[in-house]
Amino acid sequence: MSGYFASELALSPRQQAVREEIRAVCDEFDDAYWRERDAEGEYPHEFVNALAEEGWLGILLPEEYGGKGYGTEETVAMMYEIARSGAGFSGAQTVHAAIYNSAPLVKYGSDELKENLLPQVASGEAWIQCFSLTEPTAGSESTAMTTRAERDGDEYVVNGEKLWTSRIDVSDYLVLAARTTPYDEVDKKTKGVSLFLVDIERGVDEGSIQLEEIDKTVSGVVSSFRVTYDDLRIPADQLVGVEDEGFYQVLDGLNEERLVIAAEAIGLGELAIEKGADYANEREVFGQPIGQNQAVQHPLAAAFARVQAAKQFTFDAAKRTDEERKAVGARANAAKYLAADATFEAADAAVQVHGGRGVAREYDVERYLREARLTRLVPITQELALNYIGENVLELPRSF
Ligand SMILES: Cc1cc2nc3c(=O)[nH]c(=O)nc-3n(C[C@H](O)[C@H](O)[C@H](O)COP(=O)(O)OP(=O)(O)OC[C@H]3O[C@@H](n4cnc5c(N)ncnc54)[C@H](O)[C@@H]3O)c2cc1C
Repeated sequence: MSGYFASELALSPRQQAVREEIRAVCDEFDDAYWRERDAEGEYPHEFVNALAEEGWLGILLPEEYGGKGYGTEETVAMMYEIARSGAGFSGAQTVHAAIYNSAPLVKYGSDELKENLLPQVASGEAWIQCFSLTEPTAGSESTAMTTRAERDGDEYVVNGEKLWTSRIDVSDYLVLAARTTPYDEVDKKTKGVSLFLVDIERGVDEGSIQLEEIDKTVSGVVSSFRVTYDDLRIPADQLVGVEDEGFYQVLDGLNEERLVIAAEAIGLGELAIEKGADYANEREVFGQPIGQNQAVQHPLAAAFARVQAAKQFTFDAAKRTDEERKAVGARANAAKYLAADATFEAADAAVQVHGGRGVAREYDVERYLREARLTRLVPITQELALNYIGENVLELPRSF
């Protein structure tokens, strides 16, 4: 595929360097590696370890804790490159949380917590790959969570149920969101939530964290769980930040993370288009390459145009995260929306071009389509991304 559009991105020297270094790591993991991990439902430990060894899980951590001290611009470049390499959206998701879960710790964690834990995160010794927020009755409406953390002396006692808690099987710690003040006792529903750092092994060994894996059809490389917290005792010094203010701590940095998600979707979209175009050049039907037919060319070309537009938009937004918060939020939600839809079209076109082979695992495009579908659902749905724009940019009444 021509590099014409990619060269238009005008990457900074640091973004360019990140891309090249990440590409060198990813080159060790070919399509077959990702295909097999997805089919077997295996976490790609070798891949994540390779990135961790070179310090990439600490891309956002300050240098004083052993991190690289980079920002959103470089992280967008990193995660785009991982997805683009063949790992896809799900491959990117295998490390995404490790990078973002330490963000609230950097900003709100106690000095002791930061000094003890962050260097281990940066070096890949301790993994915080897991954020436990969603509940069976609190997804898009996350403030409706009912999981409770009640203070008891110098501990909190947690009871409740979470859904879709991903990567808890490969993490040392998780970040838990729980209500320290019940929903019906707060004047604003965004208040009363607190964040905790939880030692997973301890909770599992004590029987106060119980896991049940969700049987799902996408992202075999990441396992997701229904988690029951049953009288889980958390030392009070594992509270992250201020009690009852956790929701605001989550919101802080969410826009930047959303831009990175968009970049991961874009990497997947380009991957799908490339596979589709390669196959359209090779496959001959009625004595000519199928790609000679405009009916085959156009869906790929249209998807290419849309993916490139989303890419320009996302990389531009990543340069402007120090602007006014609502403007950053509008761009982040628009980027996520555009990237997910463009990528879905790209993956669907790539499957169609492959004819029957489009659903055979060995051609990879069926995996891309499953993942592209997922980008429309997580970390927030397309509808919720549009709600943000409707309310905050178009100044329309709030729908919820
Ligand atoms: C593979 C996977 C991994 C995940 N990993 C994690 C994880 O690690 N940690 C975690 O905490 N969560 C995780 N999630 C959960 C994810 O964030 C939620 O699924 C997502 O936020 C949507 O919530 P929901 O599934 O409860 O859908 P609901 O909130 O029940 O929504 C259902 C539908 O209604 C629509 N809808 C609802 N309200 C409105 C409205 N006001 N306007 C328009 N449309 C509306 C939604 O857009 C959606 O289409 C994961 C999910 C998946 C699928």
